[in-house]
Amino acid sequence: MGAVSRVAAALVLALLVVTVLAPAVAAAEPTFGNAIATPTFLDGIKLDQRVSLPSGVHRVEAYVREGSDAHVFLADVPNPGTGDHVLTYTYETPAGSIYPNTQVLLGFRITLDDGQVVDGPPAKVQYEDDRFAWATLKGDLVRVHWYEGDQAFGRRALAIGEKAVKDASELLGVTETEPIDYFIYADTKSFYDVLGPALRENVGGIALPEIRTLFANIPPSAENDPWVGIVIPHELTHLVFGTATKNPYHDPPHWLNEGLAVYLSEGYSASARGNVERTARAGDIMPLRALVGQFPTTADRFGLAYDESVSAIDYLIRTHGQEALVTLIRSYAGGVSDDAAFSAALGVDVAGFEAGWLADLGISEPVPFGPQPAPPGPLPPDWAAAPVPTANPGASGLPAPTFRTTPPGASDISGPVTLTVIAVLAVLLAIGLFVVARGLSRGEPLLASFTPRDAETPPDAPTPPDAPTPPDAPTPPDAPTPPDAPTPPDAPTPPDPERPPDPERPPDPERPPDPHRPADPQTPPDPERPPDPHTPRDADTPRDDEIV
Ligand SMILES: [Zn+2]
Repeated sequence: MGAVSRVAAALVLALLVVTVLAPAVAAAEPTFGNAIATPTFLDGIKLDQRVSLPSGVHRVEAYVREGSDAHVFLADVPNPGTGDHVLTYTYETPAGSIYPNTQVLLGFRITLDDGQVVDGPPAKVQYEDDRFAWATLKGDLVRVHWYEGDQAFGRRALAIGEKAVKDASELLGVTETEPIDYFIYADTKSFYDVLGPALRENVGGIALPEIRTLFANIPPSAENDPWVGIVIPHELTHLVFGTATKNPYHDPPHWLNEGLAVYLSEGYSASARGNVERTARAGDIMPLRALVGQFPTTADRFGLAYDESVSAIDYLIRTHGQEALVTLIRSYAGGVSDDAAFSAALGVDVAGFEAGWLADLGISEPVPFGPQPAPPGPLPPDWAAAPVPTANPGASGLPAPTFRTTPPGASDISGPVTLTVIAVLAVLLAIGLFVVARGLSRGEPLLASFTPRDAETPPDAPTPPDAPTPPDAPTPPDAPTPPDAPTPPDAPTPPDPERPPDPERPPDPERPPDPHRPADPQTPPDPERPPDPHTPRDADTPRDDEIV
């Protein structure tokens, strides 16, 4: 009863403490004024907010959330201590870090000593390229923005854009309802300021489905260039493709996306066909699995990547029909793998589809670039077969060793030999111990135990008298493992089809160095993370003489 009374008393006391302290905890939270964000293009977004801080503030941070990105960027801010203050923070926005037309949320986060985290109300700002007086024309879905050129140019761009969205949406069976912004830059430098330094050269247009925005570089001199009628549908097809395939798990192969954009904007042109067929005859075709991610950077390979992509789309439609292409693309919305998508839509997996495409081109599968398994080296002549019977692997039930093909880590000759040696040593040890024990039991001195006792034992034998093992049985452990048995380091690792192991491969432009994210310990890199506004996915170079 005494113990129960003490527990009850403790509970009452605890309730009293909680009741007394609860208002104090609530009163200790920080209070915030309105957050004010002031963006300066290519410089930064300045955030100011009045705050009243209680005692017990452990940390003050700024938080930033860009567009629909689920990641939150956090930056430490000096803790000004208890009292009323105006907190200030500047989120730097150098070229390429945030694309114009992106909505950004910024606020301050207070972490108290007890671990409680309080986010102040954020400011919401639209990050814009305000260097120009943009003219705007609105259609049903597309809004065209441009700053050089007349109204006729804007109307033409809008008409092309509206038709492209309509065509691609109908083809892929998706309904676009949210507006799409299309910004047309007249000069290359201003356009590159938007893209940032991490993007490759000669990019003429870029589609960013995550902010439903496209940027293109179309100088006034090119207003009547046929390329304008290509680049706009091309980029808008990417955006509709993004809507049709959106899922958090797996992006479709890049060649599928680009191939469709080229097919819908310009078809399988004679020049593309000629390039592919010429390259095929030369034995220099890149496999489709080399075009899953970003395309090669050299001009000829970059152009060839587009030509091969549209060639594969052309083959797909000729062989399986347009409906199969649409089924294939739409299935990606379910987050399926490439093989699952291809098998369900076409009846063949990716390798089977590629084999059909290559056969259609009249060539066999290209040999991948990069490190190849080294040929087996020569064995010393006396190592060819000698170790095998010694190990007697058949008796052990292990597979018979084959020096040239047994991969590292698999069962090989060293296993049986090691067992044999251990067994022999164990027998010798047991015999030795027995002899010692017998000698000791007879009261003989220990050092005398190895004294020859029997006439059968040679007087000078330094080894135990009754060694039962043939002299050649204890094979040296390393004898059956010839020096070339360790396979060259790259042999067991075949080239990753998703990433051709090209030592010359440049850093992946899909992930340009981000001035913000690496510093954020709260948000580790996530391989499945949705497309990052910092990382353009669909930049396209107008090819060859079409480069503007
Ligand atoms: Zn493209």
